Amino acid sequence: MRTYRAAGQGSVEPLGVEGSTIVPASTKSIASDWKHGASSNSVWQSMFYYNCTNYTMSRFHTNFMDADGSLCSKVMFVGSVAVFLVGLAVVLSASLGTVASGKDTVVFFVVGDWGRQGTVNQTGVAKLMADVGRSKVPQFVISTGDNFYPNGLNSTDDKLFDLSFKNIYSGKALQVPWYAVLGNHDYGDGYLGYCENDESKTACDRSPKHQLGQALAARDPRWYCQRRYTKRFGNGLVDIFFIDTSPMVLEYHSMEWGKYPGGITEQSWEAQLRELETDIQSSKALWKLVVGHHPPRTNGDHGNNPDLMQHLEPILKAGKVNAYFSGHDHNLEHLKCSDLDTEYFISGAGSDCDRGFKGNTDSMFQYQYSGFTAVEVRSNDMKVDFYSLEGGPSKPIYTTVLK
Ligand SMILES: [Zn+2]
Repeated sequence: MRTYRAAGQGSVEPLGVEGSTIVPASTKSIASDWKHGASSNSVWQSMFYYNCTNYTMSRFHTNFMDADGSLCSKVMFVGSVAVFLVGLAVVLSASLGTVASGKDTVVFFVVGDWGRQGTVNQTGVAKLMADVGRSKVPQFVISTGDNFYPNGLNSTDDKLFDLSFKNIYSGKALQVPWYAVLGNHDYGDGYLGYCENDESKTACDRSPKHQLGQALAARDPRWYCQRRYTKRFGNGLVDIFFIDTSPMVLEYHSMEWGKYPGGITEQSWEAQLRELETDIQSSKALWKLVVGHHPPRTNGDHGNNPDLMQHLEPILKAGKVNAYFSGHDHNLEHLKCSDLDTEYFISGAGSDCDRGFKGNTDSMFQYQYSGFTAVEVRSNDMKVDFYSLEGGPSKPIYTTVLK
């Protein structure tokens, strides 16, 4: 039995019609039809007649000349129709609901826990994102981590980068920057050995560092991942703070995979949190968002994380962070906690899902199947839409608006 719950404060809103761009008929075909359509010719002429007695004929224009020699009016007609259709396309495009980043709007997608070489719905979610992106055009995509299953990358040449990212997210709308954070699987928290996806068994160098430098960007310029960084959008509209939450989970420090090169035990999670706090406090943006792999609270199968509740939540609270986006739990969730102003969004449904829920504490919405999240930030509000494979691209299965 499927678990699906949407609380009353959320609502479902129609997104509009897919592929809303109207392509005007070419002027060439219009001219051709007109040339051979004597009966309709007079009607159109009466509608679009212009006085052009001083018009200078050229060799190009003779191609459009009719038997009655009314060249100028016909050329003007073609131009008028073209202008009319282009204008119509613009009006219809707007009325059908196309949304894109602009002077006062930032649009982006959030997807997590995806890298499975296209299997278990990863390709389906990628297509869903591309389809939604036709009418809701993202400026960038955020990955909430666990980018490459099961154990991250073996090297910067690892073919998993192509098989799980480059070749999968090939849709037009997804050819934008991807801002990623690391998840525990990117460190090597898998069920297999250290080098199981290194066919040669000679060049294995498993490390989360492979995702952080410029090497992957050379293979695909969309890719951007650092341990901790800040991106600012919309000239003060929204600042997004990206953090690496795995080192903050203290049980990971004793794991074997936590000791891989560049791993958990080589970092100071306290220093990273201090830097995050400084950056958030100094931000003057209207909207402050934080992105990390682990959710402090969740109704998913991983459960609440006491380390993050103790160390991260006070920073979110003091910094008046509007929303925190994460993955790790393979589902879609929206939580509003009575003791926090920061709203929690979990978007970890980029591939393998269907793990159920432990409960529904503080839940506004929770859904255990594959999908992703689309966000529109404006000065007065921030709209968050959840899309699923079941619901399709034409409308979200859940929408909430933060003020
Ligand atoms: Zn994870």
